[in-house]
Amino acid sequence: MTSDPRGGGSVPGRDWDRAVGLVSSAADVALACHISPDADALGSMLAVGMALRARGKRVTASFGERRFRVPRLLRFMPGQDLLVEPGSYPASPELMMTFDVPVADRLGVLAPNAGKARELIVVDHHASNTGFGTLNLVDPGAAATAVLAEELLDRLGLPVDRAVATCLYAGLVTDTGSFRHSSTTPEVHAMAARLLSTGLNPEEIARELWDRSPFGYLRVLGAVLDRVVLEPAGPGLVWTFVTRADRAAYGLPYDEVEGIIDVVRRTDEADVAVVLKEDDDGAWQVSTRSKGGVDVARVCAALGGGGHAKAAGFTSHLPVEQTMADFRALL
Ligand code: 5GP
Ligand code: MN
Repeated sequence: MTSDPRGGGSVPGRDWDRAVGLVSSAADVALACHISPDADALGSMLAVGMALRARGKRVTASFGERRFRVPRLLRFMPGQDLLVEPGSYPASPELMMTFDVPVADRLGVLAPNAGKARELIVVDHHASNTGFGTLNLVDPGAAATAVLAEELLDRLGLPVDRAVATCLYAGLVTDTGSFRHSSTTPEVHAMAARLLSTGLNPEEIARELWDRSPFGYLRVLGAVLDRVVLEPAGPGLVWTFVTRADRAAYGLPYDEVEGIIDVVRRTDEADVAVVLKEDDDGAWQVSTRSKGGVDVARVCAALGGGGHAKAAGFTSHLPVEQTMADFRALL
């Protein structure tokens, strides 16, 4: 690993030093990422978990969902043997670390565990991060939490092998939209180059993340696109929804429909795109995207959620039309 340049992150050196001290002296480390994990959350956590285990630490990793299930498209990631169900997670860890979690709520049923941890290191890149840790390694300028995870491993002197790099790369490539978003800096490409030099397979990672699905996905996508609505007034809004019944007809689990927003958001006539996804409990998980004219993190925060200016979300227990009326009113 090269240790420089690190890209001028906003985390003070003394906070990195404290993190290195805490992690180095711990025998047991409990890791957690946000519920409905994406590749950045799960990948950052598993990467750090594997590297710490190789250093001889006892590592536990999880995310706080009662119906604990790793999304199908993330199952290619190495290190999943570190995962335990939330029920088996330490109740009051000596040292706990969270990845890609902006607010304690997003830990789901593991939030009380974090509240009882003696030390809680929060590793994240959301501008909205509330600083709920005893130590917060938060850099809103980082393209992904994986960037901070890599720097932590570097500062700990832990090697990044091909398995660790695969997890970090999955996070980096996901959160930069395959190196398309404005967050794609020279430092991002330099990090990708370091990770690629471990021999990881970018073709396989991309196929697992974006280029495969069960046949039923095409049918559901067809139904969902058939009901898409374009509202050209104001910033331009394009939106649609996918119900539990849509998925049940083809036996699709919830995480298979998370990528639909990437089809909908391409609409030229709209700055803002929304996809409402009914989860298995009947709640609506709302994904929102903006091309930059609207700060969707602000809108989603007003509706109880959060995220980034151009990619954010919230949960709604109201009917679709009511949720959209509330959303529209905030644009
Ligand atoms: P996605 O639409 O891909 O699920 O989420 C996009 C962004 O919004 C991510 O950064 C994610 O962390 C954030 N986000 C999605 N849903 C919620 C939510 O219910 N609460 C909060 N605080 N953030 C969310
Ligand atoms: Mn992220």
